[in-house]
Amino acid sequence: MYLRKSRLDTDYDEVSVEETLSRHRQILDRFCKDKKLNVVEVLEEVVSGESLAARPKMLRLLELVSTGMYAGVVCMDIERLSRGSSMEAGYIMQILQTNYCKIITPGKTYDLQNESDEQFTDMKFMFSRYELKTINKRLVRGRNQSASEGKFMGSMAPYGYRPYKLAGQKGNSLRIEPEEAKVVQMIFDMYGKQGMGYNAIAYALNDMHIPARKGEWSQTSIVNILTNEVYLGKIRWRREPVKKVVKDGFLAKTRILNDDYELYDGLHEPIITEEQWEMVKAAQKKRNHASVNTDRQLQNPFAGILVCGKCGAIMKRTVPDKRRNPTPWFRCTTRGCDCKIIKCEVVENSIRDAMQEWLDEYTIQIEADQQPKVDPIATALEAVRGQLTQLQLQQENICEYLEKGVYTIDMFTKRNASLVKEINQLQSAEADLLRQQSESSQKKQETVQIIPTTQHILESYPILSPAEKNRLWKLVMKKATVYRSQDDKLTVNIYPNLPK
Ligand SMILES: [Zn+2]
Repeated sequence: MYLRKSRLDTDYDEVSVEETLSRHRQILDRFCKDKKLNVVEVLEEVVSGESLAARPKMLRLLELVSTGMYAGVVCMDIERLSRGSSMEAGYIMQILQTNYCKIITPGKTYDLQNESDEQFTDMKFMFSRYELKTINKRLVRGRNQSASEGKFMGSMAPYGYRPYKLAGQKGNSLRIEPEEAKVVQMIFDMYGKQGMGYNAIAYALNDMHIPARKGEWSQTSIVNILTNEVYLGKIRWRREPVKKVVKDGFLAKTRILNDDYELYDGLHEPIITEEQWEMVKAAQKKRNHASVNTDRQLQNPFAGILVCGKCGAIMKRTVPDKRRNPTPWFRCTTRGCDCKIIKCEVVENSIRDAMQEWLDEYTIQIEADQQPKVDPIATALEAVRGQLTQLQLQQENICEYLEKGVYTIDMFTKRNASLVKEINQLQSAEADLLRQQSESSQKKQETVQIIPTTQHILESYPILSPAEKNRLWKLVMKKATVYRSQDDKLTVNIYPNLPK
């Protein structure tokens, strides 16, 4: 038995997860007793994750089913089994099917060995995904509203503040933590008034044994404080949109910073003044200008895309001595990181080799992909359109019933309303699928673009200037990581810029 609260159950009112689950448990217990089903194990999902990775009980269920010892899984309805990507739904279906496991719901039992049931299950999974998208949109709207009211939306309060629940209304705000607030003020003054750099400030704070949030003060933690408008009493919104990425074959969420975010007046007290903020901004501008002037011509072909494989910091290109020792090296900029320095030439050659290898494999893969095969979107579209035709036919039929007097006006109105509702849903699904179809064909085009560009770089590499190399590398890869361990093992990873 698999129990899981769906977002649709409560429509966001305050009914607790436990309450919903125990109600479902009662219904299913009675159902199993009536049907004389022997329930071996009950799995209750308390978290309401979308992705498989966020649903530990579902993973356990799949593990159990894979033993082949279970005749079926009992659940409230088929949608409980999967929300999230259709890839994951497909994966779940496949495991159930290969292990002869039925899906048993109070409404219907689905036998996946039976072809028509399988098609029906596919459809239901697809719709559940469609509904989820609409619900997510509503959730985002709710959160936008809270941010514009100045409430704190994050999960962790910034240094200097503690979160608290607002009295008499939904949401959280921030309360000043006096000891930490003093440190924040000090950091702004050190940078803005005393002209200290990020590293120097981190070093000074550690020297004074001022505890940081996590571990020691670092360049990053200082930068984060000096650029956070929360200290001015503002709320930042949409700075870190959640992006979904496929990780180990499953969907996972990741955050990618966005410079183009929104600011609202917060309900919380500021820690610093506008003047302190402006002084820091002015000092930052001055420092950036200084560093641009010394580096007139770009020498690093991997500027901005080469990071340390251990700590993720940008790798810096350095020349020890311009006259006596002009060989350039890459160096990790994190103090304390154990990544050894690496000759630029070695990195460059490794990345070129890796890219060549990737290109060869990828070209073969693309050729294989272009062989005709079953297109899931086209299949789904066909199914949706088939259903639409059916419903339209039914609609014609009930008109006829009305004319012949088989249906009363009342019966007709009711039946017609439910048909119209179903038709509307199917039409939205059809529109959604058509959009997916055009996205996927665009993706195919972009994918093919990357091949000639990569070929061009690799073939003309010796004659390109560092700046030109940098421009082209950025086109074909998101980033590359290098790491040289203490025992001189070199690891290079490339991240080709494939369309999402
Ligand atoms: Zn590092």
